[in-house]
Amino acid sequence: MLKIGITGGIGSGKTTVCKFFELQRIPVFYADQQAKSIMHTDGLLVDQISREFGADIYFSNGELNRSKLGALVFNDEEKLKKLNSIVHPAVFRAFDNWLNQQKNAPYVLKEAALLFESGSYKDCDFNLLITSPHNLKISRIMQRDSVSEGEVLKRMNKQLSDAEKAPLSDFTINNDEKQLLIPQMLDLHNHFINLSLSVK
Ligand code: ATP
Repeated sequence: MLKIGITGGIGSGKTTVCKFFELQRIPVFYADQQAKSIMHTDGLLVDQISREFGADIYFSNGELNRSKLGALVFNDEEKLKKLNSIVHPAVFRAFDNWLNQQKNAPYVLKEAALLFESGSYKDCDFNLLITSPHNLKISRIMQRDSVSEGEVLKRMNKQLSDAEKAPLSDFTINNDEKQLLIPQMLDLHNHFINLSLSVK
């Protein structure tokens, strides 16, 4: 099964683009959502997080205390690295299980904000980058999440820039609201279908 990684900076339009591919019946694995969900459903991961951050990082009902964990890792590089080193392999396991259930699709997408930063792009056959102008990304997120520009910049600073991601990408969609999105997506969809026929 052909695996295409899809990424882009915050507000670039990853989710918007993925919804289009889903309309073409292409399965999409949302790695960030999965990571959140398995942090309280994957027994092995729960054990590892409890051992590393203390059992009280989970509420008595089994839910993760996300604000406590966030506060612990936000300004602590080492703790964040440790958390990622535990969570990323668990997301890989979840992806492999999910992939085994996608028998009839020509290809699948793996959407991850930190596809390149996490190294998970290496597990994909091709990688697709969604780009948008810096200021447009900021204004979209300010509007979507009702947050300040400073808050958006804080989140952006944790990600590689488009210029750093571009050399690692095989394909790009330009979501600058000047070039039409749908023709770009359809071209790529057709291309991915052709690629999937050649790898079968
Ligand atoms: P995040 O990394 O925060 O999850 P994202 O890359 O998934 O962001 P989206 O959620 O798809 O980005 O888009 C951010 C906002 O911008 C959304 O409100 C979306 O509706 C809007 N948006 C994205 N692309 C376009 C476009 N081409 N035209 C109009 N609005 C757009």
